[in-house]
Amino acid sequence: MNFARHLFLVAVAATLQAQSPHEGNKPFPPYKVIGNIYYVGADDITSYLITTPQGHIILNTGYEDTVPIIRDNVRALGFRLEDVKIMLNGQAHFDHVAGQHDLQALTGAKIYSSAKEVAVVESGGAKDPRFGKEHTFAPVHVDHVVKDGEKVQLGSVIVVAHLTPGHSQGCTTWTMTVAEGGKTYNVVFVGGTGINPGVYLVKNPTWPGIADDYERTFKVLRSLPCDIFLGAHGVYYGMLEKRKRMETAKANPFIDPQGYKDFIDHSEKVFRAQLAAEGGK
Ligand SMILES: [Zn+2]
Repeated sequence: MNFARHLFLVAVAATLQAQSPHEGNKPFPPYKVIGNIYYVGADDITSYLITTPQGHIILNTGYEDTVPIIRDNVRALGFRLEDVKIMLNGQAHFDHVAGQHDLQALTGAKIYSSAKEVAVVESGGAKDPRFGKEHTFAPVHVDHVVKDGEKVQLGSVIVVAHLTPGHSQGCTTWTMTVAEGGKTYNVVFVGGTGINPGVYLVKNPTWPGIADDYERTFKVLRSLPCDIFLGAHGVYYGMLEKRKRMETAKANPFIDPQGYKDFIDHSEKVFRAQLAAEGGK
């Protein structure tokens, strides 16, 4: 195309971007996090590409309008969308799974979900007890229900599911190991720990055991060995700042075991404060 038309299209794209109603969903250049893990998400809404010679896994697919960002990022890294075999999610909220429908159309990948969130994604979010009335999206069929502790294997890569309910009912934290420079690292992709606005911990008719679930989740998170700290939102682990630091730092900034501990400590502090405010133990 000629240069004037190119400029026109760039301007249109910029306008459309500015109009995107979704926070944290600006296009972001893809990069290698470590080993065979690549970041292909937006500026806060994360998406990870885990590659193997036998096909790839994508963890988290963002909003509907995150999909073009993921698509372009996967291609920019030189990988093929048709090679994505499995889609996983950390939590079935609309900002992490609404993109599954369109991304499945592009990849043909199978959709995996924890049992508690099958109804949520298969109803296009309508059965989400917190957000069902506000945010819905194109429903998908869940091809495989993931159990607690399940090892999802593709080629030589094994990604392990740890149910960490609280932020959502079937919230799942994924772990794997990754090798780089002769070393092996433990990777944790946190599903989420925040308490959504309007959610009660003590008197919660739609989820009576939510406080106990949170207690167990903090224990589980503390039990996971973590070198590489990642998660469903970039803000969980300071993605933007670490990505910037990557340009000059000698060590990979995403190696951050202390940051992971601090994140759990902070999340638990917020949880205990709200529990106490509601008159819980
Ligand atoms: Zn969420």
